[in-house]
Amino acid sequence: MPSSRRILVTGGAGFLGSHLCERLLRQGNEVLCVDNFFTGTKANIAPLMADPRFEFMRHDVTFPLYVEVDDIYNLACPASPIHYQFDPVQTTKTSVHGAINMLGLAKRVKARIFQASTSEVYGDPTVHPQTEAYTGNVNPIGLRACYDEGKRCAETLFFDYHRQHRLRIKVARIFNTYGPRMHLNDGRVVSNFIVQALKGQPITIYGKGTQTRSFCYVDDLIEAIVRLMATRDTLTGPVNIGSPAEFSIRELATKIIALTGSRSKLVFRPLPADDPTQRKPDITLARKLLRWQPKVPLEEGLAKTIAYFEGLLTKVWSRTATVA
Ligand code: NAD
Ligand code: UDP
Repeated sequence: MPSSRRILVTGGAGFLGSHLCERLLRQGNEVLCVDNFFTGTKANIAPLMADPRFEFMRHDVTFPLYVEVDDIYNLACPASPIHYQFDPVQTTKTSVHGAINMLGLAKRVKARIFQASTSEVYGDPTVHPQTEAYTGNVNPIGLRACYDEGKRCAETLFFDYHRQHRLRIKVARIFNTYGPRMHLNDGRVVSNFIVQALKGQPITIYGKGTQTRSFCYVDDLIEAIVRLMATRDTLTGPVNIGSPAEFSIRELATKIIALTGSRSKLVFRPLPADDPTQRKPDITLARKLLRWQPKVPLEEGLAKTIAYFEGLLTKVWSRTATVA
């Protein structure tokens, strides 16, 4: 097997996708990044455009794609609730038609294919922490269903292509991940709280803030998915990837206020429908199979993410000042 591979990354202009493209290029691979810029940005991939081994194609994965590649990482899908609920029909299509198209491509060119699945397949979990054996508690008709059920159906398709067509699949169930290159208006909790704290605006806690999440820094996540792709062909997953350190949303707010030195106050807003009350991965399998566990503590990852958003806001504010 040649050490340099031709690799397709769908959703490559997004938060995780752009970090993955960067990592794969650093390893000496050729990278084809496919994205429709629904939530991704040109700025995320701008530093990569000068690399002759990097190519960008504007394309929607709900339509077939004809390219020649060795590996496929399928990340295309909005991940923030406000973005995936903006056009829920398109979200389901992206997960389901996108999976069918990428699996069809993998079948034709005999590529290995990775699926960015999610902890959302567990819904509002009744088992805690969540192991891969847990089959979940998802409301199929709720506001989050377009994402949760779309991702569940994508997993079904991956395993059926594996059983029926012997495709080499790798499925990771990714838990809440954060870091630089999240969109300023991403809407997920870490970026919301940091941006609010830096602007001195109230920190919006949905519900009482007692719900929990476990936050993984992006560098740790990328390391795990690259390791998963490199495992032997018989290893398909699903494998939980995330941090087992669990925090309440209120604790997260307090940490971000302390790290930014902000004077922002907490405000409480209604809890969105079907918002999971607790979430924490059991990563025993990832530890064993990938010899992996997250290295970056929450404070350290938050400090890097805060520095990123400070830089972004400084640029936005200086542009506004110039226009005024
Ligand atoms: P993101 O919104 O930053 O990235 C998604 C990318 O997919 C964007 O660049 C977007 O423009 C692109 N995209 C959306 N629909 C598309 C379509 N139809 N065709 C082509 N491109 C399309 O989100 P992210 O956090 O980087 O998430 C990446 C993947 O990882 C997603 O599949 C998401 O479900 C999964 N995931 C992420 C997390 C997390 O915490 N970040 C957790 C679980 C799963
Ligand atoms: N959340 C919050 N304030 C915000 C954004 C999110 O309290 O401004 C809460 C949200 O209700 C959820 C948790 O933070 O309980 C994580 O939300 P996010 O959208 O980041 O991810 P997900 O719910 O998909 O885990």
